[in-house]
Amino acid sequence: MLDIKNSRMKILEELYLGIQLIILLFGILTSHIFTTSDSYFHIKAFLLIYGLYLLVLLIYFIRKTYFQNVYTFHPNLYLSFIDGIFLTIFLYLSNDIFHPVFHLFYIYITLQTIRFDHKSSSLFSSFITICYTIVTIMRHPKDIISLEFIMNVFSFYLLSYILSSVMKEIYRLETQIYFMLEEIKKKNAVLKEISSKDYLTNMYNHKSFYKYLKDVIEASEKKNTPFCLTIMDIDNFKKVNDTYGHLVGDAILKEISSIIHDHIRKTDIGARYGGEEFAIIFPNASIEEAKKICERIRKAIENHTFDVNNQKIKITISGGIGSAIIKPSSSNQHNFVAFVDNLLYEAKRLGKNQLQCSKEIIYLDSY
Ligand code: GH3
Ligand code: MG
Ligand code: MG
Repeated sequence: MLDIKNSRMKILEELYLGIQLIILLFGILTSHIFTTSDSYFHIKAFLLIYGLYLLVLLIYFIRKTYFQNVYTFHPNLYLSFIDGIFLTIFLYLSNDIFHPVFHLFYIYITLQTIRFDHKSSSLFSSFITICYTIVTIMRHPKDIISLEFIMNVFSFYLLSYILSSVMKEIYRLETQIYFMLEEIKKKNAVLKEISSKDYLTNMYNHKSFYKYLKDVIEASEKKNTPFCLTIMDIDNFKKVNDTYGHLVGDAILKEISSIIHDHIRKTDIGARYGGEEFAIIFPNASIEEAKKICERIRKAIENHTFDVNNQKIKITISGGIGSAIIKPSSSNQHNFVAFVDNLLYEAKRLGKNQLQCSKEIIYLDSY
């Protein structure tokens, strides 16, 4: 909400300052061309003071925006009244061209009602009515009871009422858009979470496993630190399915993923690599650290009794663990995942329920 409002405020304040500068130029031009020589001196002095005042505002604005990087602008009510007083003096001084220049009052009311949309709609029309009354009394006191005067004052109030109604509607829409954007943001976050996770085990899925692997490889390359990868596979899982049914198999997969989740560090990435295969990435870890965690997981699963529908089932897993470091200069390109997968098959071949670790660090080319 604040972002939308702040950017609108900034644009408005820039526009307001720009319009004031244009009015100053307009004042210089009109006074030069249309006013008589006796009033010209006063207008010149006035425009000089007004010009200096605008210069100070401009310097303040530029300093805040470009040197202090402040983008939250709140229009200043006192300065707006000072602007109104400047305008009234200008109108009073531009005696000969009072009627054409008088329309600047409408521009003033329009701009202030937009800038101060939260203030009462009659604030600026009342202020300009007072200014207009003073100028009229000073110029032609009798005009105060003229139809023109009454119509002008009526128009001030009508203009500010219409504008503030429009601004209220804009504000309502702004609020609505803000809440819709927040809702979209929340839903996007939920969708991202759903699309990156496996529906059954709630672990990261195959696709996000590769995304994280790429991230870890990049981070490892930057820091020049090794990382580890394990691929684990449930032993004889087909038999479990055939004996107890697929629903029991599903429940076991869920329970195993929560055992894995309980043992890995917050920074490790646990994923369901395939059907009954799990992969864990250990960023910034030595092979000893990864082996210790994997051995704990293997033992925890071996010692656990899976109790599904009052059936007690024992499960074991096998795994391969590899450690890698990125060396951009390395000439041989390894497929690290295939390498760890081969270690897993080695563990299966050697009798299952065990982990096979790589003897050496694999040097990978950067991605
Ligand atoms: P090994 O020890 O050599 O790994 O033997 P295995 O029986 O585990 O291996 P195999 O590849 O022959 O069988 C894997 C089984 O995993 C087959 C499949 O039914 C089962 N499986 C894969 N995904 C799921 C799943 O989402 N739910 C269930 N219940 N079973 C699954
Ligand atoms: Mg298996
Ligand atoms: Mg398998």
